Amino acid sequence: MNIGFIGLGIMGKPMCKNLLKAGHRCTVYDIMDAAMDEAAAAGAIKSKSAAEAAGGKELVITMLPNSPHVRQVVMGENGIMNYMGEGCIFVDMSSIAPLVSKEIGAVLADKNIEMLDAPVSGGEPKAIDGTLSIMVGGKKEIYDKVKDVFLCMGSSAVYCGEIGAGNTTKLANQIVVALNIAACAEAFTLSKKAGVEPDLVFAALRGGLAGSVVMDAKVPMMLQGNDKPGFKIDLHIKDLNNALETGHGVGMGLPLTAHVLEMMQQLAGDGLGGKDHSVLVKYYEKMTGESLKL
Ligand code: NAD
Repeated sequence: MNIGFIGLGIMGKPMCKNLLKAGHRCTVYDIMDAAMDEAAAAGAIKSKSAAEAAGGKELVITMLPNSPHVRQVVMGENGIMNYMGEGCIFVDMSSIAPLVSKEIGAVLADKNIEMLDAPVSGGEPKAIDGTLSIMVGGKKEIYDKVKDVFLCMGSSAVYCGEIGAGNTTKLANQIVVALNIAACAEAFTLSKKAGVEPDLVFAALRGGLAGSVVMDAKVPMMLQGNDKPGFKIDLHIKDLNNALETGHGVGMGLPLTAHVLEMMQQLAGDGLGGKDHSVLVKYYEKMTGESLKL
């Protein structure tokens, strides 16, 4: 397929490389030239603007930080909505506010451009392996057309409902991940403070009911003092803010999410916004004076 791919960060770059590996032709754009060079070395065609990357393509994919970035690339000055031809399918794989997916979908529908919102879960390792979990919103018949492309980047692509449903599902994912990391940080700091080594607690817990993919991925980072992102605190703050806004919009409070959001906000205030979200453990380190680092 002839694909335009915009946004080649931690996630976009390996996802694009997997499309190339599967034989798709990808024209790429990112505001960071170096990111495009790496994709070009893997066979992508560089372009000078998002408009150039999107023009005349059958499918255009964006993988950008948040709602304002997607809105700007699609509908801002020189926005790609004016360059994607009729019949082109636009797939936003960024994690953004579901209401913004709906808003962009409605604007594109007026131009006969179909849109899916298809955020992902799994982080950089699964983006590299092509084993992401992809959650999709939009028309079912459009999902059916794009499913094989999704499966070049992920091991599952689940249809969740109308446009916005992908991002609503992703917010649920981000709540579970944030609360799980916070629970690990709190529990493992307690064990250290009470005199049991956290690596032994990890070995004991991981095979039982408390074990999780999140625990397996993030507790080793806490024990090694490895804060290289992965998934940045700043991006998780964005997701939890989107979750609160969505919850409030449907008349639901999210007390646990709000609490962990405030912990992350404090870490960002301490200058850790660009670090991996496993630095939630530093919140407890500051509170107790105990470090989990072995
Ligand atoms: P990132 O910050 O590493 O990458 C974003 C890329 O977009 C950067 O290369 C940036 O230069 C580019 N960009 C920004 N504005 C642009 C514009 N106007 N035009 C073109 N390029 C532009 O972020 P990431 O970690 O790759 O995350 C991307 C999305 O995926 C986010 O919504 C994030 O929440 C989501 N996500 C990330 C992870 C993860 O583990 N990193 C996991 C799942 C989902």
